[in-house]
Amino acid sequence: MLCDFHFHTSFSGDSDTPPERQIEQAIALGMERICITDHHDYDGKSEIDFTLDIQAYLKAMAELRERFRSRIRLEIGIELGLQRHISDYLKELVRTYEFDFIIGSSHFIDGIDPYLPVYFEGRSEKEALRRFFEVTLERAKMTDCFDAYGHMDYIVRYAPSKNQNYRPEDYRDYIEPLLKILIENGKALECNTGGYRYRLGHPNPCEEILRLYRELGGELLTVGSDAHTPAYLGNEFGRAAEILKTCGFRYYTVYHKRRPEFLPL
Ligand SMILES: [Zn+2]
Ligand SMILES: [Zn+2]
Repeated sequence: MLCDFHFHTSFSGDSDTPPERQIEQAIALGMERICITDHHDYDGKSEIDFTLDIQAYLKAMAELRERFRSRIRLEIGIELGLQRHISDYLKELVRTYEFDFIIGSSHFIDGIDPYLPVYFEGRSEKEALRRFFEVTLERAKMTDCFDAYGHMDYIVRYAPSKNQNYRPEDYRDYIEPLLKILIENGKALECNTGGYRYRLGHPNPCEEILRLYRELGGELLTVGSDAHTPAYLGNEFGRAAEILKTCGFRYYTVYHKRRPEFLPL
């Protein structure tokens, strides 16, 4: 099975799963290498605390890496919530701590988590999506702060009609420049299979965007389930591998010490 490079443990504010349980599940699924990427959303206003105690996290991860060394290779990652006004904070964080892999994600939009219905209130679904992609493009320019851009169109998981009315070409004036920024700066695009858990029937981003990225010359591509429980670790990875091959990819990417390594799909 493909290596899962995006999932969460109880170090994230929205997961109760001890890291050991995720690691045991990855071993049971036959994964040879994984990366835990717990949430750190600095200055994200939410009922859930999405900030990470980074020192405690890194210490625990280093211990787990040793404990499981003979059975699986554990890379130590983080999922950073990108926001323009905290870019100096994030740059400093990335300089201070040593991670193997950093995902940059757009979670809070104008201070609101689009997971909450209030994000969609008072405007059309298309306007709400357009604002999301506009902000997402601006954040993709924060290339000092991440290795891969996480779940790029994940807002459709929470849209009132989910992805029923979603056509990526409607947002191409944001999506295409974003993909070009990733390519020009040697950053990866993530294929996140969490979309299947939300019954979208597609990964995030969807096939059209994955194909466009490849056509534009994109080669760095990571794969993650975004699982918060063992049941979804590696979810639909067989399907993702087939989709990615259809989109023109032959390899996907894993990271160690923030350097990409290619593995066959
Ligand atoms: Zn995320
Ligand atoms: Zn995540």
